[in-house]
Amino acid sequence: MTTAQKIDIRQLNLAQLQAHFSEMNEPTYRAKQVYQWLWEKSVRKFEDMSNLSKDLRKKLDEKFVIKAVEIHTAQFSNDHTIKNAFRLADGNIVEGVLIPTDERMTACVSSQVGCSLTCKFCATGYMDRKRNLNADEIYDQVVLIDKQAKANYNIPLTNIVYMGMGEPLLNYTNVLKSIERITAPDGLNMSYKRITVSTAGISKMIKKLGDDGVKFNLALSLHAANDIKRNEIMPISEHNSLAALADALKYYYQKTKNPVTYEYIVFNHFNDEIEDAKELAKFCKHLPCKVNLIEYNPIQFADFTNAEADKIEAFASYLRKEGINTNIRRSRGKDIDAACGQLAVKTD
Ligand code: SF4
Repeated sequence: MTTAQKIDIRQLNLAQLQAHFSEMNEPTYRAKQVYQWLWEKSVRKFEDMSNLSKDLRKKLDEKFVIKAVEIHTAQFSNDHTIKNAFRLADGNIVEGVLIPTDERMTACVSSQVGCSLTCKFCATGYMDRKRNLNADEIYDQVVLIDKQAKANYNIPLTNIVYMGMGEPLLNYTNVLKSIERITAPDGLNMSYKRITVSTAGISKMIKKLGDDGVKFNLALSLHAANDIKRNEIMPISEHNSLAALADALKYYYQKTKNPVTYEYIVFNHFNDEIEDAKELAKFCKHLPCKVNLIEYNPIQFADFTNAEADKIEAFASYLRKEGINTNIRRSRGKDIDAACGQLAVKTD
């Protein structure tokens, strides 16, 4: 059987794998063992599944394929951030970043090859969306970045953010499936509270998260609490007005009781005035939330620049005075284009 004809084994759930084992006249507990190798132990070759007979390993190799993700290149920043270009089994490349800070080891992972949205400040937005990632391709990024954290800094991952390439809510099923595997006791057994999915704001899908009662954190890339300004930098907002988003977020909060984080990049002379902070404070009144003010990292495709430090401080002070939990997030990995909005697959 050629590789193309083989079954992609990680697309199967345990019950489906057990059904294949029955067909092969193998006991179903063996399927459970293979499932453990695949997810819990992240083994990527049948020959390494050492508690199976050689004969069974050969049979598995003939019938199934494990489409493993590999690190194509890894770039190290002066601030210890590591940007990876991951090669998928079909040759496509996506990026994922390890961000070490004093308190956390965070993996930032991609959910799509490219992105169909066209946020003006984001390098990925200037690429076409080629395809969605499968759950195992997202999972592998986490596994590889976790190994990298242990190997380089002797600390395992503590947090995962879906803020790399792509809009996670436009790859809803695979993103949720990857989180199910990351949090499962027979997966990576990480807490939901350590996972954040960041969306550009798709009202319909935010409501769906509420209906599905998800337990992970949700972040909204807001960047302007004013429809005209938001439309200018995020064309998606033409169909997802602030009123529609507020409505969806309230619904989400009612169903999940999870507060939401608003990500707000402070651009020089665009959204950095106290008037902008007032609009943001007003938007924050809709539901329990916190705000992350993010430094911008210029990209070659667009003219935006980062706001002045004192403007960002004044912006933060205003929000805090309004009783809003506000953090300023310094940018990481700028020197290797690994910072927020800079991922765009430059492997040369
Ligand atoms: S910010 Fe996110 S949603 Fe917008 S273009 Fe970039 S990757 Fe896509």
